Amino acid sequence: TATSAASSATASRSQQLLERNKQWIPGGMASVNRATSPAIAFAKASGAYMWDVDGKKYIDYHAGFAPYILGHSDPDVNAAVVAAMEQGLSNYGSGPTEQEGTLAELFLKCVPTMERVQFYNSGSEATAQSIRVARAFTGRDHVILMQGGYNGNQNVVAINLMDSVEALGGKPVVGGEYPKCPMTAGIPQAELDLLHPVEYNDLEAVEAMVKKYAIAALVMEPVLQNVGVIPPAPGYLEGLRQLADQYGFVLVFDEVKTGFRASLGGYQEVAGVTPDLSTFGKAMANGYPIAALAGKAELLELAVDPDPNRRVLVAGTYNAHPIPVTASLACLKKLSDPSLQLYAQLDQQTETLVSGMRDIFSRQGVEAQVVRQGSAHVAYFGSQAPTNWWELITSHDFAFDAKYRQALIERGIYHFPKPTKQGSVSAAHTSTDIANTLDVIDQVVQSLVE
Ligand code: PLP
Repeated sequence: TATSAASSATASRSQQLLERNKQWIPGGMASVNRATSPAIAFAKASGAYMWDVDGKKYIDYHAGFAPYILGHSDPDVNAAVVAAMEQGLSNYGSGPTEQEGTLAELFLKCVPTMERVQFYNSGSEATAQSIRVARAFTGRDHVILMQGGYNGNQNVVAINLMDSVEALGGKPVVGGEYPKCPMTAGIPQAELDLLHPVEYNDLEAVEAMVKKYAIAALVMEPVLQNVGVIPPAPGYLEGLRQLADQYGFVLVFDEVKTGFRASLGGYQEVAGVTPDLSTFGKAMANGYPIAALAGKAELLELAVDPDPNRRVLVAGTYNAHPIPVTASLACLKKLSDPSLQLYAQLDQQTETLVSGMRDIFSRQGVEAQVVRQGSAHVAYFGSQAPTNWWELITSHDFAFDAKYRQALIERGIYHFPKPTKQGSVSAAHTSTDIANTLDVIDQVVQSLVE
């Protein structure tokens, strides 16, 4: 058919590009997390759409792993960036800049639960730094993480994001510590010994770890969003806050995905639970590389503590680089503009999409649970929406999910092809885009159940 001819041509052009890149770049691209089979290379993106190297157009729900909350190539962000470039980046690399202060002020206005903020280049950096701060503050070394969570690529967090028990290499211990599965070779055993993965939504497991080890920090996505969308059970985040206060560890919300997406004030605003530190990235600059570590003054002021034994190093050639700072300012100005009502719009569009998906799955007799948090959403194919990693891997039909995603991509709806990766609606998605998406989902589901 014309469609399959077009898609095989797409695969081969993208595949050629991948093979070409592999001559110089191991794996042919800058992040293994972007590798898909078949590979699709994109050439252009604007608003809700992306075009691959063959010119095939897609409605995009991947959003580059979530940053593009305003849509691709937002004209206001673009204009601000061009203006900053024309200033020659001259006010940078020596002393303070006006823009970093202005961004910090606006950031903390948007996220009023936090008292101070520092800017980094990636979510991984900001989250790794949160652990350094927590260790310096508490004088303890151990860290609790969530099974199935992702907090970046650094040694201090790079464990236990996998989608099978086999990958884990052992049975989980429910109510306690999971076996540790590093995501990379090269982490010293001494560092792994300090990391303790527990099941999400399990307060008893956290308490067990706290009684066993000198815990400096608990780092977690407040909504588990690297295995879809798994929200906290009622009382769970409050319970963590209470345990942190009781045992004196630092509660870190990794809001790299939820920040400026769950709401302007992050998921901490939605939940009404304030962590000690929280990290942001992605949506804070609509795709430009900047991240933030925000938190209590007493923690972040350790950066300039007069006591060298307590002082925490904050340094980086590109920290608060004027281009991403400018992009973030433009993005946050738009997100916080009350006349635009962007969060209400995102909620409404995403709700239309997910309720349409629920109708389709139920009409076509597919057992599916569509979960939404803000503009993030996912379809779990199983009898229940998982509340933790174990439930996810034992209930979700990963094979069906993979086929569903592949069929959507072939018909021009781009979700990342890896099962459970959540979709992100942007402010550029129109009602027509959502309606067209639902039409395609309907066709795809019908073709899969036939
Ligand atoms: N934390 C979470 C929750 C993430 O989803 C990610 C990236 O996907 C990170 C941290 C790491 O951010 P970055 O990829 O910008 O280093």
